[in-house]
Parts: sequence; structure tokens; C-alpha cells
Amino acid sequence: MYWERVTEEIYLFTSDRYALVNSTAILTKDGLVVVDALPFPNEARQIARFLAGRTGLDFHSLILTHHHMDHVYGMDSFPKTLDLISHELCRQKLLEVGLASLEEARENNPAFDEVELRIPTITYSEGDFLIRAGEKTFRLVHLPGHTIDNTGVFYEEERVLISGDAVMAIPIIAQGDWDTEMATLERIKALEPETIIQGHGEVILRGEIDIVIDRYIDYLTCVYETAEEVLEKNMDHRQIWKIPLEDCGLERVPLGIASHQLHIANIIHVRDMLKKRREMAEEEKTSEEVASE
Ligand SMILES: [Zn+2]
Repeated sequence: MYWERVTEEIYLFTSDRYALVNSTAILTKDGLVVVDALPFPNEARQIARFLAGRTGLDFHSLILTHHHMDHVYGMDSFPKTLDLISHELCRQKLLEVGLASLEEARENNPAFDEVELRIPTITYSEGDFLIRAGEKTFRLVHLPGHTIDNTGVFYEEERVLISGDAVMAIPIIAQGDWDTEMATLERIKALEPETIIQGHGEVILRGEIDIVIDRYIDYLTCVYETAEEVLEKNMDHRQIWKIPLEDCGLERVPLGIASHQLHIANIIHVRDMLKKRREMAEEEKTSEEVASE
């Protein structure tokens, strides 16, 4: 894990063991506001110790952007006396699939044996949710698409958006929804943040934001067009596997070897969605024809 300071009051921690996933802490006069906590308990404990030692502050609030394990598990290392805050759908997702996926993670890596799954205790479900700490305002905004439950934390005074996986070095919609993610990326542009701390990968700074978000929109557009072609040509998995990420304007570097796999999963997800839509349209047509007979 390595850390950097994004501004005087924002610390960013990035896992070098898991897909450059980020955890963020913001210093306020009333204590530390923490957003996400990396997957591995030893990394999370390091962060908690580092923050307490370095700043001498207590923790003020713990926020979860979404239910994926690489953001959730480390929360176990932060004070249990504090409520965990998220979108209501994040709480529901964790209640539905949290324990089963923790079991699966433990089978693959015993480092997760000691993780106790934390379930959010304060949630919001409509509109935005405001947290105020030491004269700072943190606006929680629902930014679904990557997953249905994703929340962004907008630190208003500095216009810093901690986006969760709504923004990441390679947009991933394989467990989410293509249309929703496209709308979310437009909404993020409209928020006019000056800095974006992505769920995975490097900080996006003022001046690069529109360029980077447009690149992600272009990437997802390309995924959509590729999926249409895959469906048209009835391509099998072996043929799909050969479609390079670079063809859609992104590089593999940011997330390491998994990035190709994620890209293919995106294409297959959109292909399946298009297939389902087509089948439904055809069914509708047939039932209309039957009705008119
Ligand atoms: Zn995620």
C-alpha cells in the first residue's frame, strides 16, 4: 500500500495488492472522515494507525461507496463504535450477498479469515445526504451504474468528488448497467468537480476532468458498438477474448493484468443485454401479431 496527500487535508491510500483500489481520509476539526477501506485487514489497520498517529484526530465518520469487497472489508479495522454510512441499496446488497462472497474470498485467500463484515447502520435512499464535520460539507450523491448502490462523496468546499467506482481507470459495468453508468458520467461532469478521487487508479486533477470522463464515455460507447458487432456476427467466447482493450482507447496499465478480463466481461454483459432486449422486442411483435389476428 502507498499513500499520498491530495491536498493539505486529504490523504489517499492505494492498495498495491488489489487493483489500485483507493481509500480516502479527510481531516476536519471534528475528526477524520473516511471513505472506503481497501480489502486487506493488514493494509486497513496500517491506515487506521497511520491516521491516528499522524493527525492525532479521532474518527468522525465512515462512509462506504458501494458493497464490493475491495472497498468494504477493511472497514472492520476502524472504530466499531462509529456508524457506517452508505446508500440503502448498499446495506441491502451486503445483507443479501455479503457473507456468501466473504466465504468465497476466504477460500481464495486466508487473509480474509479475520474479517468481520460490517453492515451500514445509517443509510439514505432518496435525494442527497449531507454530512457536516468541522465546517466542511460532504454531500453523498447516488451515482449508480457500476453497481446499483454506488455513492459519490462530494466535498463541497474544495469541490473534490470521491466517486467510488462510478469513475475508475477502466469503467466496469459487468455487474451493473450500461445506460445508468453513461448517465452517471454525464451527471459527474455536471457536478463540475475540481478533483476526482476514483475508486481505482490515480487522482484526476483540475483541467483533466472533462478529458478523462469523455474518454470513459467514449470507451463505454465503443464497448456498446463492439457488443452489437459480437451479437451480429454471433462470435463465440474465443473470438470475443481476442478483442483488445486498446481498440476502445484505454490502456491495460492502470489495473494490471485483470484489465483485459474486465474489458471482455463488459462486452459480454452488454451483448447479453442487447440480446435480451431483442428477444423481448420480438416477443412483443409476435404477441401483437397474434392479438391483431
Ligand atoms: Zn466496485
